[in-house]
Amino acid sequence: MKVPRGKEVGRHTRDNVYTENDPYLPPKGKGLVEVAICKDCTAVYHNKKWFLDAKLYEEKKALKDINWVICPACKKTKENVPNGVVMLKGDFLKQHKVEIMNLIHNEDARSKNYNPLKRIMKINDKGDEIEILTTSAKLAQRIGSILHKAYTGEVEYKKHENAKFMRVEWRR
Ligand SMILES: [Zn+2]
Repeated sequence: MKVPRGKEVGRHTRDNVYTENDPYLPPKGKGLVEVAICKDCTAVYHNKKWFLDAKLYEEKKALKDINWVICPACKKTKENVPNGVVMLKGDFLKQHKVEIMNLIHNEDARSKNYNPLKRIMKINDKGDEIEILTTSAKLAQRIGSILHKAYTGEVEYKKHENAKFMRVEWRR
């Protein structure tokens, strides 16, 4: 009898490394043909990784065989499919909005620099509350933990069971 080993291995791999379960990323071993550049955000796909680097972009776009694409992060943004949502609420937020948003923008820049596919895709300022959509569940979690560290307040994380989606609420 044949044992479906491949299936088992695949299942465990997906459970452990949830980013590989992201339908916006190409299946393993079927990465993009190098060099690819995102027409929307100028991220460069090179050595099997994405980079947001103005110098690298200038250097690569001069090459002949460029694969002009929409990167997975821009695709999520276009289709409005976030992997994380952070809600900010409370009077303290209203009084310190600029400062708090600066902290969040810095974290976005740090995250994009490390991995251009992990970024803030949209910020909806609704006056009393602010909604931040991210392309990565981990980034949403990180924003919650940074705010809690900097300003205390209350933070709540609601994780989807496969960890692909995270809803975070911070209030003070
Ligand atoms: Zn892009």
